[in-house]
Amino acid sequence: MQITPHVFQVGGSDISAPPDAAVYLIKSGNTAALVDGGTGEGHNEILMNIRECGVEPSSIACLFITHCHYDHTGGVAALKEATGCTLVAHQLDAIYLETGDSDVTAASWYGSFMKPFPVDIKVHEKERSFTLGDLTINMYHIPGHSPGSAAFTLRSNGNLVLFGQDVHGPLNDMLKSNREHYEKSLEFMISLEADILCEGHFGVYQGKERVERFIQSFL
Ligand SMILES: [Zn+2]
Ligand SMILES: [Zn+2]
Repeated sequence: MQITPHVFQVGGSDISAPPDAAVYLIKSGNTAALVDGGTGEGHNEILMNIRECGVEPSSIACLFITHCHYDHTGGVAALKEATGCTLVAHQLDAIYLETGDSDVTAASWYGSFMKPFPVDIKVHEKERSFTLGDLTINMYHIPGHSPGSAAFTLRSNGNLVLFGQDVHGPLNDMLKSNREHYEKSLEFMISLEADILCEGHFGVYQGKERVERFIQSFL
């Protein structure tokens, strides 16, 4: 599903496999990136969809991990193997991927386990920029749903696209959620005034007002 000239959805519960969170493809000239990787159950469908967007999996430079939960990361190691991409995550969630923590990553909720894998770039900062072809992708630390949750933004065709993923939560002790941090992070996301929100489970919201209303509804 094409969202903007640069952004496509290539995975998700209706697209790749029922337990998968949304997987987004960012295309910029000859290079590309992914946002999250699903559970791995829909691995072949995701690769097929990437090709259908005119992107060779080997041209995927980077996979941005929004947070450690299994529905977003169970398939990341296999996607890295298939594409050779660099994995990026916030340090505070990378820990649970690198140690294979099946509780904090919620893999146990899916009747599975988190097979540990290394994260190539562990981000410590509140904010960091990445270059992908002509695009600048900003990464923001938005703790709350998990300790190292991250959001990403880019500008496509004049529109600010926000990859907020699990804006809706939930908050849970086993996931090391923090309500105070979560509320601050939602307020921060509203302050970005994004034109398009790519969510993890609730689809894509278009228009500044609709994006704000959706995020605000969880405050
Ligand atoms: Zn989550
Ligand atoms: Zn999720």
